[in-house]
Amino acid sequence: MNASPSPAAAPVASAPAVTPMGWMHTARFLTTAAQLHHLPTLEWPEVAFVGRSNAGKSTCINTLTQQKQLAFASKRPGRTQHINLFALGKQGITDAILADLPGYGYAAVAKTEKARWQQVMGQYLVSRPNLRAVVLLCDPRHGLTALDEALLEIIRPRVEQGLNFLVLLTKADKLTRSEGAKALSIARLQAGGGQVQLFSALKKKGVDEVAQLLWNWTHNCAA
Ligand code: GDP
Repeated sequence: MNASPSPAAAPVASAPAVTPMGWMHTARFLTTAAQLHHLPTLEWPEVAFVGRSNAGKSTCINTLTQQKQLAFASKRPGRTQHINLFALGKQGITDAILADLPGYGYAAVAKTEKARWQQVMGQYLVSRPNLRAVVLLCDPRHGLTALDEALLEIIRPRVEQGLNFLVLLTKADKLTRSEGAKALSIARLQAGGGQVQLFSALKKKGVDEVAQLLWNWTHNCAA
């Protein structure tokens, strides 16, 4: 008996499919800017990550991009108050931008500096032309704070005009199942039209879902 596979059974060679996680892994540092007018004008769809400092934003970006240091580059002295842009796209061909905005609400920052940053961030959210989506990170044990609510108010008109918006409830591993469900329903009420997702870098919860959302949003797929 001939045990060798027939030619018809041979696997068909095809280009590997681009998975959202593979695509996220391509993230590379593009540029950093202390002021809005220093940001390059770009055509690619941009997704901004925002949140209070300590909400878990750097850890989230590093988890999504499967890189240990990418977003912590944003925490280097001198870059903490900057908007840091990362390019995404296979084979070095950029097709989307990830913007890491400075964490807000950090107590040790001087009042004037805080006010300046809120203004820069507000201007960015209102006026960045290629902004396609905003991901607001929130530690559900603290809930949405007054600063988060202020940010929601700023982007509301753009969300009504089609800007995609996701509230990411971080550190979900610290919540019981019922606490997680409760945090989700509260955030859904507050998110006003945006999506809400539980996320844990530690347990890799919500990672694939967020990567898929970002891919859909930046490639004009239905979310
Ligand atoms: P950022 O200031 O928003 O960039 O916050 P970081 O990413 O630096 O995270 C703040 C703290 O929360 C750090 O001590 C992280 O280790 C911790 N953290 C972040 N994500 C998670 C998570 O998914 N689970 C747990 N248990 N801790 C996390």
